[in-house]
Amino acid sequence: MQKQSIFAEFTEITPSAPIDAERHGWRAKCLQRLIRLDLPVPRTVALSADTVRAIAAGVTPDTARLAAAFGGALVTIRPSPANPEWGGPTTVLNVGMTGAKHAEIAAVHGRAYADALYLGFVQSYAIHVARLDPDMFTAEPSPEALAAALAAYEAEMDEEFPQSPARQMGEVLRSMARAWEGTTARLLREAKGAPSDAALGLVMQEMAQAVGPGLSGTGTIQLIEPVTGAPQVTGRFRGLNPANRKAEETLYLVRDRRGHSLEDAAPEVFAALQAHCRTCRERLREEMLIEFALENGVLKVIDAVKVQRSSRASVRVAVTLATERIISRDDAILRVEPRALSELLHHQVDPRAPRDRVARGIAASPGAASGRIVFSSADAQAAAARDERCILVRRETAPEDIRGMHAAVAVLTERGGITSHAAVIARGLGLPCIVGASELSLNPRDRVIVTRSGRTFREGDVITVDGTNGEVLAGSAEMLEPALDEWFTTLLHWADNVRDIGVRANADTPDDARTARMFEAEGIGLCRTEHMFFDEDRLTVMREMIFADTAKDRKVALDRLLPMQRADFIALFDIMAGLPVCIRLFDPPLHEFLPHDREGMRELAEALDRPLSEVTRRVEALSEFNPMLGLRGVRLGVTVPEIYEMQARAIFEATVEASRRGAAVVPEVMIPLVSAKREVELVKTRIDAVAAAVRTATGADFTYRMGVMVETPRAALRAGEIAQHAAFLSFGTNDLTQMTYGLSRDDAGRFMGDYVNQGVFPEDPFHVLDEDGVGELLLIGSARGRQTRHDVTLSICGEHGGNPASIAFCRRSGFDYVSCSPFRVPVARLAAAHFALKDPDIAQGNKVISND
Ligand code: PEP
Ligand code: MG
Repeated sequence: MQKQSIFAEFTEITPSAPIDAERHGWRAKCLQRLIRLDLPVPRTVALSADTVRAIAAGVTPDTARLAAAFGGALVTIRPSPANPEWGGPTTVLNVGMTGAKHAEIAAVHGRAYADALYLGFVQSYAIHVARLDPDMFTAEPSPEALAAALAAYEAEMDEEFPQSPARQMGEVLRSMARAWEGTTARLLREAKGAPSDAALGLVMQEMAQAVGPGLSGTGTIQLIEPVTGAPQVTGRFRGLNPANRKAEETLYLVRDRRGHSLEDAAPEVFAALQAHCRTCRERLREEMLIEFALENGVLKVIDAVKVQRSSRASVRVAVTLATERIISRDDAILRVEPRALSELLHHQVDPRAPRDRVARGIAASPGAASGRIVFSSADAQAAAARDERCILVRRETAPEDIRGMHAAVAVLTERGGITSHAAVIARGLGLPCIVGASELSLNPRDRVIVTRSGRTFREGDVITVDGTNGEVLAGSAEMLEPALDEWFTTLLHWADNVRDIGVRANADTPDDARTARMFEAEGIGLCRTEHMFFDEDRLTVMREMIFADTAKDRKVALDRLLPMQRADFIALFDIMAGLPVCIRLFDPPLHEFLPHDREGMRELAEALDRPLSEVTRRVEALSEFNPMLGLRGVRLGVTVPEIYEMQARAIFEATVEASRRGAAVVPEVMIPLVSAKREVELVKTRIDAVAAAVRTATGADFTYRMGVMVETPRAALRAGEIAQHAAFLSFGTNDLTQMTYGLSRDDAGRFMGDYVNQGVFPEDPFHVLDEDGVGELLLIGSARGRQTRHDVTLSICGEHGGNPASIAFCRRSGFDYVSCSPFRVPVARLAAAHFALKDPDIAQGNKVISND
């Protein structure tokens, strides 16, 4: 590129200058908007991305001409990428500060002011441009510090501190342009969604000098409180004490009993600032933070950026702006990142309750939870199987800990940062998480944690992880329920009105169902009934049933389980109040319900009043080499039909009972692990017979829907004939992924990290749907199913149902709904709305969405 062509790229920002966000970056565009709104912005020049690229490549810009354009004034140089989220090199202030300029400023504004300005510039130039060690410079300005900084620069660089404004400008521009190209900077911005070739524009602005006999200083102002999003003027102003004009102090913006305020010191400036904020809000359609300077009483608006805010505040701001018709509802929906909602959904430690803080770490994933300490993923899974709340404490986590994290209510690691494995995964799962709690010393072998003050916590002790502010508390803490305020609810209702794929919840217990209702799931998409048999009282009966020698004995045990199951379903139907509830018949191998150690078998022998040897033999006889591919799901339904018959009876009797006292219930009965049409025929015939018997016995009529869980590859391939007997097909993508890859769900963690790192898999397919392989089976299965039965309901109920990318895939594939864990329902509702707005042309076929 020739120099001449670069000259053309310096564009002074005026109301009509050809500034565009792609070429000059968001900051340049934003400043132009402020100028168009008549805000008092100092002279500003934009450098296009091409210019900056050329500078990075070694082209020397004509900075003499640039410096002349500013008439010898000091300038600030700021980054201006296309998207503010992408960051950029550090802003450099007061470029053009030389010995001569120092003398000039000292003569007008005093030596101290000139020293501070010059020292600040020398330091930032040395650190950001010459890349010298920051430790070489003292922070406090004084004539000695300035002389020392200049001397240090000279000693290190073997040359005098540059005394030409044009040279300084050239060096600053080059260093900023090159910093943008650095690997770390690129990785950081790519993590925020920047393309690999993202470009940088730069903005040069005449420095406003916050000095003079009138009120002077710099500050920021915004109209909202950034944590809640509530209307409240916030910000600060730093200037000379308005009373004595001596020491610098920070003033309140709004009148305040505790000290001086800008409102009192300069009411007209304060009013103008508020007016500017309002103008920005209305015309830029966003809550903006204005950065300003008061130059001898004269207001200058230096910059304006979107107010940094919590997720909670971003929801409130988006809804408020739409309610005031400043933006549309669709814009409001699109302004909230679906994943950000999870921050609003969690329990928080009640700030009013006492806190026994034992350590601090990095707040890596929001929310709080109390539970017993476990030191391994296996122990976490064991605790979860006992329905015990546990906190997984690790030095750091690795991919094989994923299942342990699923089982824990919170995660605490001694090491790691905000993007460490534990942090990333916990955020995805919506688990409270603290990482980098280096104040704790962890000894996993002895199963103990020692705090800095010497307190010890052992395995089984209860602690609280407050992932919102990174504090570990002793014992369990009082919790605040998630804050599902009016703005959250409103936004999600707007999202419901635009989305075109349904969202249900996976819910096994009344608690889950209540959470599902709270998050306005459109029903239960998967109720895993086996979880209902792990309670102490039921487990014994369950085991009696498993050990029964004859069909008659088995019936005796099942007759005891029947009322318990019926009560389970009545509770769910009552809570769901007529919304669809899809109940999956018993799925796991029976062996899971039996004890695995000698002590457990002895207890069982006692409970069943049988010899230990017999119990041991029977337990061994039931064990399988590969239980997940063994006698489970529909295979049990075919070979031990009494279990499904009992469950069907419980479902139908509960249907009659719940419908009598509340909304009519149309239960959905789902058969798991199907691989052949005949399995469905056999089970369906028996269940239809149970329904007929219940109708006769109760004298009540009811309807129900029978469906099939498509979670074996064969079921997907044979979905055409299976759909003859199925009103719905629900894709169980956990097992389907396991079987498609031939990869154990429970063991894959051991090498998943290596596989992902080496690019064998782009992501862990158990978390993000493998669209190419498993996805193809979904497409085949859904197309063949629909070919047989055009109105067959299609859904997904594996873990993937709550993952936005997988939701997009299901939507593109014409699915009716996704079903995910209750806490992921709001994220799914909003993500589905985003897809509907961004990609409206996808035909959604014959969907019936229950939202109006
Ligand atoms: C599945 O396999 O995808 C599923 C939802 O069932 P489970 O996880 O209970 O096996
Ligand atoms: Mg399954």
